Amino acid sequence: MNIHEYQAKELLKSYGVPTPIGGVAYSDAQAAQVAEEIGGERWVVKAQIHAGGRGKAGGVKVVDTIEAVRKTTDSLIGTHLVTHQTGPEGSVVQRVWIEQASQIKKEYYLGLVIDRGTQRITIIASSEGGMDIEEVAKATPEKIIKEVVDPAIGLRDFQCRKVATAIGLKGKLMPQAVKLIKSLYRCLRDRDALQAEINPLAVVTLGEEEKLMVLDAKFNFDDNALYRQKAITEMRDLAEEDPKEVEASGHGLNYIALDGNIGCIVNGAGLAMASLDAITLHGGRPANFLDVGGGASPEKVTNACRIVLEDPNVKAILVNIFAGINRCDWIALGLIQACNALQIKVPLIVRLAGTNVEEGRKILAESGLKFITAENLDAAAAKAVAIVKG
Ligand code: ADP
Ligand code: MG
Repeated sequence: MNIHEYQAKELLKSYGVPTPIGGVAYSDAQAAQVAEEIGGERWVVKAQIHAGGRGKAGGVKVVDTIEAVRKTTDSLIGTHLVTHQTGPEGSVVQRVWIEQASQIKKEYYLGLVIDRGTQRITIIASSEGGMDIEEVAKATPEKIIKEVVDPAIGLRDFQCRKVATAIGLKGKLMPQAVKLIKSLYRCLRDRDALQAEINPLAVVTLGEEEKLMVLDAKFNFDDNALYRQKAITEMRDLAEEDPKEVEASGHGLNYIALDGNIGCIVNGAGLAMASLDAITLHGGRPANFLDVGGGASPEKVTNACRIVLEDPNVKAILVNIFAGINRCDWIALGLIQACNALQIKVPLIVRLAGTNVEEGRKILAESGLKFITAENLDAAAAKAVAIVKG
């Protein structure tokens, strides 16, 4: 699960991490009011969507009058902001975050991520933070440094100093960097985050002083831990998620939208992956990943069909069931129920194997409905691809 920048900043603030003073606004009038309240002479108006690359796409603007805060907010709210991370359709800006503009001296990159390879939290940092970090990683990977945390010992101060030194922070900034990295680490662990990214972490000037400040923050949380993270779960913005994926999770289905035209209803994540591969191998494109899980009742199968059919690109549905815990007769009954309830017009290609397979096939054959059956996955995928290609 992802959260917005303003939520990430509020979270970090509660861990003592320095962030600019700001407020969220849902309208231009509210934005002007927020800017008045936080004071200062320059403000940043930042579109809140679950994607990075906003700066380059015109979603982050520095302005120096309240009127400009109002106008900029008006021009952002309600628009589809397209960044290199959103895909061509973009994300609708529903709110903006207004904060005091900082006097930036230099921008750094700081990230914490659970590295699945080493199974450890890894600190990633760079002296070349800001909007071109992807380019830095590609062209000059030596400028990205990594420090692995041993879970049995935890993050030590010397590791924080090592990271800070490597990216060129020294003097009065060193103790600030140590405190900041440790707070971020504590936050990541407490809140079951998989990833926290601060880009930029900036050295800003406040009069004579220099200070480290978080100017942008992104978090990704472990969905499997949300049951024990009530405060995090409350930050969920369903408008940023695919409505079909949200509906599916409510029915205990694991659905991920893809961009092809062959809908897939499969039991088990491994078999679902294999089905997507088989479709691709035969030259087709899957419209989704959908794992109905074990013990799929007829109701669950109907819900699965409904969700798959909500995608207007779907031209055929491949049902691939290998029943161990499941039962093929249940799946067959579910498909018949779905066909009747949903008036399904697209061809259904069905491959059943495993528990009660004979009974399942008999139910389909005697239903009077036009199911296209296949003996194995390869044949089913080939038939599905041939059908959508006409
Ligand atoms: P994104 O990563 O989505 O492009 P950021 O929040 O990182 O959005 O903003 C892009 C750039 O805008 C930053 O790299 C920084 O240069 C500038 N910026 C962001 N917040 C502030 C701020 N409070 N004061 C001054 N400049 C800022
Ligand atoms: Mg950023």
